[in-house]
Amino acid sequence: MQNPFIELPPWKRAVLKVGSALMAPEGKRVTNTYTLDIAGFITQCRDHGREIILVSSGAVAAGISTQTGKTRRPLTIREKQALAAIGQPLLMTHWSKFFDFPCAQLLLTYDDIKERKRLVNAKNTLTELLTRRTLPIINENDTTVVDELKVGDNDNLAAHVAVLADADMLFIATDIDGLYDADPKRFPQARLIPVVEKVDHSVFELAGGKGSLYSVGGMITKLQAAEKATSRGINTVIFNGARRDSFEKLLHQHCCGTLFKRASLPLNAKKHWMLHAVKSRGVLTVDAGAHQALIAKGASLLPSGITSIEGHFKQGDSVDIRTQSNEIFAKGLCQYDAEDLGKIIGKKSGEIEKILGYVAADEVVHRDDLVLLE
Ligand code: GLU
Repeated sequence: MQNPFIELPPWKRAVLKVGSALMAPEGKRVTNTYTLDIAGFITQCRDHGREIILVSSGAVAAGISTQTGKTRRPLTIREKQALAAIGQPLLMTHWSKFFDFPCAQLLLTYDDIKERKRLVNAKNTLTELLTRRTLPIINENDTTVVDELKVGDNDNLAAHVAVLADADMLFIATDIDGLYDADPKRFPQARLIPVVEKVDHSVFELAGGKGSLYSVGGMITKLQAAEKATSRGINTVIFNGARRDSFEKLLHQHCCGTLFKRASLPLNAKKHWMLHAVKSRGVLTVDAGAHQALIAKGASLLPSGITSIEGHFKQGDSVDIRTQSNEIFAKGLCQYDAEDLGKIIGKKSGEIEKILGYVAADEVVHRDDLVLLE
């Protein structure tokens, strides 16, 4: 069946993510098989006055390709880090050979996204590179971070980059046509979904949930990326970068693959950062009155509404907020560390000074530092 014609929303600055499946087909060395067309697309976009930031995987694959003999799998963390260090310059050389403009390498870590100061520096560097008509090529800094401290995958990294670079489009190039209503590898009748209005629970269910075969191909992380980007107002397209016609269509404003539409009411930068970039360090359980005040009245969270706390968080850390029935419904920045908060829960704000000897704030989580989950 022919897919309906979907017009690509207009865009000026895009992040293009290219996955390992396209860089190193069949898990072998990094090849030109698909990258030649991808490079052509990048050049043409730039020729039409558009800006592209490339997020490229493949450092580990490029590293492996230099090793003589068979590389034992799975790789240990040390091996992966060493192979990424070997492969990253090769990846840059691979891309640079296609272009007659300069390429710049940025290796980011989760800390660069989580910490506002580093985030601002990364943003300034990117802006300057784009002003200089350079092609920023980004990867995660695999050699210095271990799994718990990583963004972990380049789909999510690309979404973070799109947000920090104020991009208006996120292209995720992969080796399948887009999001299907079932695993296309197992169900030949599966149909491609051309447009997703909102990345909600039902959309994640389509990808089969975390444990399914379909998710092994990485659709879950792509949907997470689409959720992050669209909630900040960035249209997202997941498409097949192994097909030459995909790039021709995109250049003619014809959307191929699946278009995830930007939210009509995007989250502001701070709330988006709190929700998507900062990991929670603890959990506050609140009573029914506080729950209602937070969800329906736009109130702040006061110590009197908190019934228990968990975690070893510091002042300013992010915490999850949940109901008595363990449903997490909000996330916020906490004005007190766990030890001091433990002493004032259930108390009136007016009692804080007497108990702690200081008042950081009357509210434990101020409304401006709180974001409700759906
Ligand atoms: N940073 C990894 C690499 O360059 C890839 C991570 C990913 O593809 O999600 O090998």
